[in-house]
Amino acid sequence: MSTSHTTCEAVESENFYDLIIVGAGPHALAVAARLYEETPSSLYTDVEHQRLHWLRRYSSVPCRACAPPRVLVLDRLGGWMTQWDRQFKAYDIKHLRSPMFFHPDPRDLDSLVAYAETEGRQAELVEINGVVGKELSKHCRKCRQKSKGKTAITRRQSLGVAVNERSRQDYFTPSTRLFRDFCDDVISRYRLENLVQQGAVTEVQYGHVYIKSEDHLSHDAFTLTVEQTGQTVRFGSRALVLATGAGAIPSIPDVLTPTPKRSKTTKHMQHESNAPLPQHEGYCHSSALVTRPFPQNVRTLAIIGGGLTSAQIVNLALKHGVKKVFLLCRSHLKVKPFDVDLDWLGKYQNVQKMAFWQEDDPEARVKQIRGARNGGSITPPYHKILKEHVKRGKLEMLTETQIKAAAWDPEQKRWQLELTSKCALPNHSGNMSLQVDYIVSATGSTMSIEALPFLQNLQASHPVDVVCGFPHITDDLQWNEKVPLFVVGGYAALQLGPGAFNLAGSREAAERIANRLNVLWKESVLAGASADAGYRSAMEELVVGNRYAAFAEDIIV
Ligand SMILES: Cc1cc2nc3c(=O)[nH]c(=O)nc-3n(C[C@H](O)[C@H](O)[C@H](O)COP(=O)(O)OP(=O)(O)OC[C@H]3O[C@@H](n4cnc5c(N)ncnc54)[C@H](O)[C@@H]3O)c2cc1C
Repeated sequence: MSTSHTTCEAVESENFYDLIIVGAGPHALAVAARLYEETPSSLYTDVEHQRLHWLRRYSSVPCRACAPPRVLVLDRLGGWMTQWDRQFKAYDIKHLRSPMFFHPDPRDLDSLVAYAETEGRQAELVEINGVVGKELSKHCRKCRQKSKGKTAITRRQSLGVAVNERSRQDYFTPSTRLFRDFCDDVISRYRLENLVQQGAVTEVQYGHVYIKSEDHLSHDAFTLTVEQTGQTVRFGSRALVLATGAGAIPSIPDVLTPTPKRSKTTKHMQHESNAPLPQHEGYCHSSALVTRPFPQNVRTLAIIGGGLTSAQIVNLALKHGVKKVFLLCRSHLKVKPFDVDLDWLGKYQNVQKMAFWQEDDPEARVKQIRGARNGGSITPPYHKILKEHVKRGKLEMLTETQIKAAAWDPEQKRWQLELTSKCALPNHSGNMSLQVDYIVSATGSTMSIEALPFLQNLQASHPVDVVCGFPHITDDLQWNEKVPLFVVGGYAALQLGPGAFNLAGSREAAERIANRLNVLWKESVLAGASADAGYRSAMEELVVGNRYAAFAEDIIV
């Protein structure tokens, strides 16, 4: 394996693609579907088209289907949405957290609502309570202002509720099954079934590629080293989309880190092979539960973390026969319907987004992202479930509690935890000790593009600025103007905002990338061998028809 980007890599012609997407999760699906959509729904208003400089650039380019003839999706698990399915199954999640307009379908914002209706599956939707509010009349607002005093009311509050009554249909959450069936519908509608191959990408390089059987030297292309069913295979592509998700590097509380402190390299190795997963006797990170069975013979369990995953694991543990669970959260338990503030979703989302996009300083953007997400939170329905477990004596919620020390007794097979708590519950303040059989840390993952092992070579040859783990890429989500590597998902957060981490950012990322690819294909910068006469006809065959074409035919007739 070559380690230098200056080396000319050789790739079989059947393994050379116009575009490779790494990852087959919902963000990859959004990109792939968008490439084949002839009439994508508009994501921006006319005013935004005038104001946002990256949109202005594309105003003369028709925003149509822009898929090149040869597209490949590589995923280490194989198949669309496999990682998503595994997570939902492992944590026994029956409904999504996100509302109906978070989905990867480029055709229509309301397509998930429409799908539920046409399939007669509205019963699988659960209303997200407490989000949709009645509009306050001007009179009512004035009265409130008078009683609270002008200064107590922020500009945002004076605008009224974040979600109007008429948007109520959007603030339901689909069942896990319904959402997956909908994604399958998107996959079959755009004929994406056969795009995915199983393969773990272990290295990416950018430079000259020699396409073997064509005896053709392609300048400026990617070479991917891929582990595929026990073999190492080389793939090449003119453009690359990185859709590998965010949750790759588990963050582990310091007290559970064996001494000497886990080095950065150890973390990289864990990520690279995805094994061994972060677990040892008596302990695992929540991500390990996705691929391994729930630990056996556990009577008492401590779960660290205040996010939705920790609440889901409480439920799971009790179903697996755990007698008592202790939920340890560093701060108080935050209860909110979504993982970002409602202002980023409701009718004022554009106010938030504009403020975000107008901020040029990437560090200030990171601050805005952190402010909007404000750490982990749980949904009101899960809060209710937790309170019921507390009532039954099955759960103790130790909020504002930190672990000062943790010692594993290999003979007793128990943890001795020393805690310090500010929690106001009786017997739960100050210092306390706790003994448990097992610990699960649901402490999320660390975002660090620099730590992704398969990008090490590329980062050495074509470095980008990295701010708090996020790459400082272009507004088109491109690595830089010269390297056609595109980033979606959490790693595009500096450009997309807090929605990048979940389904909210998927369609927007896809739209920006499609716009840019459209220009690149047209300029033939990437098209190379594909810019021949067959290119147009191949595209026409692949692209899903324009849904308005039938009207045109009707008119002609
Ligand atoms: C339990 C749980 C519930 C969630 N619920 C919601 C929800 O209801 N709504 C919501 O909006 N968000 C939810 N999220 C967040 C959710 O993870 C994201 O919205 C979504 O999965 C992100 O999609 P993605 O395509 O970026 O990444 P993923 O879905 O993580 O997909 C990434 C893919 O890349 C592949 N991959 C990674 N590295 C490589 C490599 N080197 N080579 C080849 N393939 C690779 C992986 O196998 C994986 O299939 C949830 C997350 C979790 C953990």
